[in-house]
Amino acid sequence: MNTRREFLQKISGSAFGLTVLPTIASASCANLPGEVNEGRVLNVAILGLGGYATRVAAAMVNCKRAKLTGLISGTPEKIKAWQAKYNIPDKNCYNYENYDAIKNNPDIDAVYVITPNALHKEEVIRVAAAGKHAISEKPMTISVKDGEEMIEACKKANVKLLVGYRMHFEPHTLEIIRMRNAGEFGKITFFQGLSGFVIGDTKQWRLNPKLSGGGSMMDIGIYSVNGSRYMVGEDPIWVNAVETKNDPVKFVQGIDETIQFQMGFPSGAVASCLSTYSMNWLDRFFLDGLNGFAELHPATGYDPTTGLTHKGPLNLPNTIHQAVQMDEMAAIIFDGKKPIVPVDGEEALKDLKVIEGIYKSAQSGKTVNLQL
Ligand code: NDP
Repeated sequence: MNTRREFLQKISGSAFGLTVLPTIASASCANLPGEVNEGRVLNVAILGLGGYATRVAAAMVNCKRAKLTGLISGTPEKIKAWQAKYNIPDKNCYNYENYDAIKNNPDIDAVYVITPNALHKEEVIRVAAAGKHAISEKPMTISVKDGEEMIEACKKANVKLLVGYRMHFEPHTLEIIRMRNAGEFGKITFFQGLSGFVIGDTKQWRLNPKLSGGGSMMDIGIYSVNGSRYMVGEDPIWVNAVETKNDPVKFVQGIDETIQFQMGFPSGAVASCLSTYSMNWLDRFFLDGLNGFAELHPATGYDPTTGLTHKGPLNLPNTIHQAVQMDEMAAIIFDGKKPIVPVDGEEALKDLKVIEGIYKSAQSGKTVNLQL
């Protein structure tokens, strides 16, 4: 993107020139990701001060419309250290027993839940009951049923439920979506998503099914599931999957090590993806059309995203994903902004439906039909 005007011309060309595909919302009222209007600042408390929360808090220092104003943690020493670092007053700090009291705290508009996957549901429901907007990390939760309950609870409380899909605001990703909507790749035929890394520390919650709700698929494979949907621009209608487990000691029952899965889309496009905790260098998306292709590599990691299409390299700026995400979420919550790719609970529920289909297929050996 060279200028805002050029980018907007491209975006509007896609939004108005072609039928917008089901997973992609209209960009008509959008300002650009990262180019957030002046407006009310979203005051955010982070719940769970672990590894990813540390990255989010550091990124938020760069936000224009989001500010870290509160802390919720089970570890008092972390609260102390974070208070000093981010200048958070005692009155905005809570533990897991007393955080329902945020209800009466005007310094907090939203709570960003960044704990192990299986805890998101209860925490989001408590946040909603306190009348605050909820932002959950991915996966939103560990089952479709739980996801539906979270959506319902937030609706009932009249608060927003958003999920930390930071790539939905990433410039290379959005440019490929724009090119696809403008017909530059022709009919989309195929997507390949590779998502994986070698997981270390065997004591971590990611390898405990009670806290993770699954293995590589819940943690990293979800990027290929979600990515297939925003790259192809459709929701899959079937999935089949095969699981390989080479180390059943490290990867206990309920923790998938490697899953290969295929999906089919209404247009006839197909996808072939891999999710693993046992291979390195797997962070790549490839989209194939009859007239062109697009590649993202890395596609979802923290390193600078690189993009290539049949027209050559995409020379776009790299952003601090979490800072742009939080600014955009402020605009979604306060201005009703519609992102190009949604980040709400309904969007996250679709990924959970696909993941449940993948697990079901891997167990049964049969293709599973999906209704997203
Ligand atoms: P960490 O283990 O680093 O941190 C999790 C934190 O949750 C802990 O530090 C702790 O904070 C709190 N917690 C509460 N209860 C428990 C418990 N029973 N066991 C362990 N921790 C607990 O995990 P991550 O930060 O890596 O992951 C957290 C979430 O963020 C996950 O859902 C993950 O999928 C997601 N994530 C998303 C990423 C993205 O790029 N979008 C990247 C990495 C993770 P405290 O001590 O303050 O209570």
